[in-house]
Amino acid sequence: MQRLKSLSVTAGSFPCRRLAELEGLAVPSKPRKSLVKTVPKFKTHREASAWAVDNNVAQYSSFKGVDPAIARDWIQGAIDTKARVPGLKMDFIGTAQERNRYVKDMMRPKAEEWASRFYEPGTKSHARMVSRYLRKLVPPMRPRDVAVSFGGPGMGGVGINAKFGKRIEDFTDMVRRNMESGWWSRSDKPTVAHIISHEMGHEIDRLFDLRKDRRFIDLYRSHDVMRELSEYGSRSIAEMIAEGWAEYTGSSKPRPLATQIGKIIEEAISESERFGKTTSA
Ligand SMILES: [Zn+2]
Repeated sequence: MQRLKSLSVTAGSFPCRRLAELEGLAVPSKPRKSLVKTVPKFKTHREASAWAVDNNVAQYSSFKGVDPAIARDWIQGAIDTKARVPGLKMDFIGTAQERNRYVKDMMRPKAEEWASRFYEPGTKSHARMVSRYLRKLVPPMRPRDVAVSFGGPGMGGVGINAKFGKRIEDFTDMVRRNMESGWWSRSDKPTVAHIISHEMGHEIDRLFDLRKDRRFIDLYRSHDVMRELSEYGSRSIAEMIAEGWAEYTGSSKPRPLATQIGKIIEEAISESERFGKTTSA
């Protein structure tokens, strides 16, 4: 069974833009327009990535290997959540593999310098040490994870597992199976939107530190989350929040627990607007 998970990778701060340009990533090519509501259809994943950057969805983007229709829905889901949470900012949107590759490339010079203390650069031992070091700092995407919300600073944002993103029909079929089994919470339709909403739920959680909020701690303790929301949501407070947000935003009739979770999140959003909190996740 495929699984969602949340993962926090601290990558530190790097000269992302320069490196991104060298790597030929999508970087802002013109003044950014304000966020728009409807994402257009794309012919290629490159088009989707460029659009995401130009429209300020995230600073960097690569949907390499992903069905453009999935990329479109992924970006739309991120925009929909960002429109509700003005303080939410992301460095990256795209595939988890590409995000990890960027971070590794950024860290490589430092890793090489460090390994040079032990081995001659250019030798096999040096190369092995560099790749071991990078792998430790940036763990690979676990094959059964469908998507990830990466913490910052560095390259925070939301990534889809490229392995699951090849065909939108297969993706939605996988979502449907996981919803029907009760592993994931419910939406009106088993769509990409449900998964991106889940990941954006993690982004909101991180922005407002919701998992430490008394209201969520109490909800988690006093409810049978597995039965009332989803099995995946019962794993932790953070997953309950993400699963609840996905159902609250994706279902026309969210169940009571999802409704409660959604309402608390809405409250947190309006509180932050009142107090002008606009820090990024
Ligand atoms: Zn999750």
